[in-house]
Amino acid sequence: MADQRLVTTIAQARARRKQLDGAWGVVPTMGALHAGHLSLVERARAENDHLAVTIFVNPAQFAAGGDLDKYPRTLERDLALLEPYAVDLVFAPANAEIYPPDFQTYVNVEKIAQPLEGAMRPGHFRGVATVVAKLFNILQPDRAYFGQKDAQQVAVIQQMTRDLNLPVEIVVGATQREPDGLALSSRNVYLAPAERQAAPILYRALCAARDAFQRGERDGANLRAAMRATLQTEPRAEVEYVSAADPRTLAELDALQDEVLLSMAVRIGATRLIDNFLLRE
Ligand code: AMP
Repeated sequence: MADQRLVTTIAQARARRKQLDGAWGVVPTMGALHAGHLSLVERARAENDHLAVTIFVNPAQFAAGGDLDKYPRTLERDLALLEPYAVDLVFAPANAEIYPPDFQTYVNVEKIAQPLEGAMRPGHFRGVATVVAKLFNILQPDRAYFGQKDAQQVAVIQQMTRDLNLPVEIVVGATQREPDGLALSSRNVYLAPAERQAAPILYRALCAARDAFQRGERDGANLRAAMRATLQTEPRAEVEYVSAADPRTLAELDALQDEVLLSMAVRIGATRLIDNFLLRE
């Protein structure tokens, strides 16, 4: 498909970036776009003069034996979905453009990347931080847009941006959901029909803990127990972790103050789903 906005090399992306003065927003994605991605695109479009969307299934953030090979790749469809947003630059590089054979420099964010997803997916955030730092350097955006759906990813990127004095504002968009509460995810296509029916159990578990918080529950262990109790009602749900943590440090909380990040990773069949609520009093 001959598309003026679609570029695949770093040189082309830099040239396009240089052509257009004014504020640039970027939405980094792995493609297989859905309404969650598009909500970020819409916001970035409204808040900037120019808009870049990146589509790159980043091998560095997948574990060996993970779902890298079967991750959905739907570039033609993605470009069609982006059409209404008048994107100024779609950057969809090949692996070798981002990771040439002699590549050897990685960004390691330390403490905040260690618990939760970091504990379950060793090396994941090293891959995320590295590719995001590279995309920031290639595209030099004024603002970059990320989804609250990946709460720890947001925390890691904010930490990296502060620590490395990257001149970009990190903007966080709300999690977009199906009508039954399931958070939109490119991985939802892996769910067989019966699994898809079971998947909103994550949302319901988060709601149960949120309701307890709103009734005044301030014991972190009780909120974790409330999430587990709901998840246990679904035989297809296999819990990896449930967490009620300090949103600033991601440390598990016992006595809650005014803020808590409820989060979980749950396997439904072979598909690993994550979700979270950020609660503020
Ligand atoms: P991904 O393509 O999965 O790497 O996601 C690209 C961006 O979209 C990330 O910042 C995600 O957090 C965000 N995102 C993914 N799913 C959702 C969702 N359901 N609602 C809002 N943002 C999302």
